[in-house]
Amino acid sequence: MRLVGLTGGIASGKSTVSNLFKASYIPVVDADLIARDVLKKGTRGWKKVVAAFGEEILLPSGEVDRPKLGQIVFSSPSKRQLLNKLLAPYISSGIFWEIVKLWAKGAKVIVLDIPLLFEAKLDKWTKPIIVVWVNPETQLKRLMERDGSNEEDAGNRVNAQMPLELKRSKADIVIDNNGSLDDLNEQFKKVLFEIKRPLTWAEFWRSRQGVVSVLSLILGVFVCKRFYNGS
Ligand code: ADP
Repeated sequence: MRLVGLTGGIASGKSTVSNLFKASYIPVVDADLIARDVLKKGTRGWKKVVAAFGEEILLPSGEVDRPKLGQIVFSSPSKRQLLNKLLAPYISSGIFWEIVKLWAKGAKVIVLDIPLLFEAKLDKWTKPIIVVWVNPETQLKRLMERDGSNEEDAGNRVNAQMPLELKRSKADIVIDNNGSLDDLNEQFKKVLFEIKRPLTWAEFWRSRQGVVSVLSLILGVFVCKRFYNGS
């Protein structure tokens, strides 16, 4: 099984690329979706976050007021660290179980769409690592357009993250998303070809098919031994 890491900075185009993978029938584990699930009312993540941040971050329905929590953590690095620390174990285990489910279905290539791939040190499990990169001007412009935010807010959000240049330097594959969507599509086709290459032996043994082969081999040897010992 090949676990492909997909990451980038805010508004660099990660979700856009993730959607291209989905449209190409490559299974994608979406860390943002999992992060939403682990913060749902009544879950263990929710309880930890309410205990740490107080009930003022809740909506009348009892669900977490995400924009409010977002504002709190983006204006305070220590609170941001605290939130990440509280939720990281639940998000990691959510990602793990999604991978297990896809593995059991026989998926050979899985894309892990994880904004904090490097920060959470999950990059050591993924190969290749794809970073969707844009220059600071494009990033700010697209972020403001997408979220309707002003330059100051957008800048704060970008600056709160690990520098995109650093992420880029750690990538196996860089998708340069400064151009048009057509440019992006062209690059994506090459990346798709790359990640669909035949599995290496190491990747094959980690796939369900590989594990079944090993078990069949062990069973075969066992049956042969019994047969020859018995005859
Ligand atoms: P991320 O998931 O990294 O935060 P998104 O995929 O949401 O980023 O992209 C940010 C914004 O930029 C979205 O509004 C998206 O539609 C737009 N976008 C992404 N790639 C391009 C591109 N190549 N050209 C123009 N707009 C783009």
